[in-house]
Amino acid sequence: TSVEVQNYIDSVFNKVKEKDPNQEEFHQAVYVIFKSIKPVLVKNPHYIHHNILERIVEPERLITFRVPWVDDQGNIQVNRGYRVQFNSAIGPYKGGLRFHPSVNTSIIKFLGFEQIFKNALTGQPIGGGKGGADFDPKGKSDGEIMRFCQSYMMELANHIGPDTDVPAGDIGVGAREIGYMFGQYKKIKRSFEAGVLTGKGLLYGGSLARKEATGYGAIYFVKEMLNDQGQSIAGKNVVISGSGNVSIYAIEKAMELGANVIACSDSGGYIYDPDGINLDTVKQLKEVQRRRISEYALIHPSATYMEGSSGIWSIPCDIALPCATQNELDGKAAKTLVENGVKIVAEGANMPSTADAIALFLESNILFGPAKAVNAGGVAVSALEMGQNSSRMAWTFEEVDKKLQQIMKDIYQNSVQAAEAYHKPGNLISGASIAGFTKVADAMIEQGVI
Ligand code: GLU
Repeated sequence: TSVEVQNYIDSVFNKVKEKDPNQEEFHQAVYVIFKSIKPVLVKNPHYIHHNILERIVEPERLITFRVPWVDDQGNIQVNRGYRVQFNSAIGPYKGGLRFHPSVNTSIIKFLGFEQIFKNALTGQPIGGGKGGADFDPKGKSDGEIMRFCQSYMMELANHIGPDTDVPAGDIGVGAREIGYMFGQYKKIKRSFEAGVLTGKGLLYGGSLARKEATGYGAIYFVKEMLNDQGQSIAGKNVVISGSGNVSIYAIEKAMELGANVIACSDSGGYIYDPDGINLDTVKQLKEVQRRRISEYALIHPSATYMEGSSGIWSIPCDIALPCATQNELDGKAAKTLVENGVKIVAEGANMPSTADAIALFLESNILFGPAKAVNAGGVAVSALEMGQNSSRMAWTFEEVDKKLQQIMKDIYQNSVQAAEAYHKPGNLISGASIAGFTKVADAMIEQGVI
């Protein structure tokens, strides 16, 4: 019965909190998933008999390690490296590496946990993992970045491989860092194993359209959401937070489809340009020069720069896409967005909305696209990169982009259908969680108690 299921969910959730009391972000991710999948357990009690919840919240393996490196002044620095190998029920562990000072066990575990269901949703054979370090790339020279990446890989190489665990980028890790890490891995293993990392440069096994995949994929997903309402993105006012890899290519695709993208941000603040932002300037500042978004307003006087990144949600818009980082959109920001008439909120970042923000969006009948569905295009194309590496082939941009569009369509349809099947019509957060969860849980059961 529903009460028994709730008791089971509560008991597992309490155990999670007792075992690791200081992992708030991880608890938040677990809470949202558990809430979403309750109807699945009511309908199929065998998941409880197999104690799937307690098994799925425990990572298969969590590795932490010392990362020592020498800075440009000759000082020896030490950071902490992480890799969580969370779930391999449907494929090798797959998930990005995040280099950011906020990285800790809680952050890595929430990201790894989300990755399990996201990766299952892509339809590709990839398990869930995540990693990173509490290293701050901001202001570091190329040489410092390279030495850090080499030291990081010196240890990580012992734990990864093309059929074992395949890292990629996340915040603070792009093609430059992947290149340095790939070079080091190759040297350690004395073997060119292209499929050990994804998001590689195009000259040594990278996939066309991987760089664009997360942002483009997010807009393809929003397109499907709008399509169901008989609408299109053309002419809509869109606010996209962040100005990193996800944000930039979401802006690019949204503009290509005729949207008016009026704001973006970085950790320091946001720019608002009512006539539409100039993407070339954003790319030049953020991708090439690695500078602050505040400088945009110096180049384009039509734009205003405001300090503090969360103020971006006070700008009235039709579509809001949080593409920066976790918990960037809280209950208060959600209230402002709803009052200002937002129609669609879709998450490009991982867990950008707090639990009360999500609750408010659902209550207010805002169309809400959850991260594990909306931003799955990145890791989906990573899986396509692995496929190209295995077959020693390279597909054209158009081929990869076409597959990405189909994958995002399928994710949307599967989420809609799962939501309907469990009597939560229109609730894509339930639908996406259910579709991802059932696939992984069934694969775990078929493989026995391991
Ligand atoms: N870090 C990205 C994500 O959150 C990409 C992971 C990957 O490509 O493995 O999905």
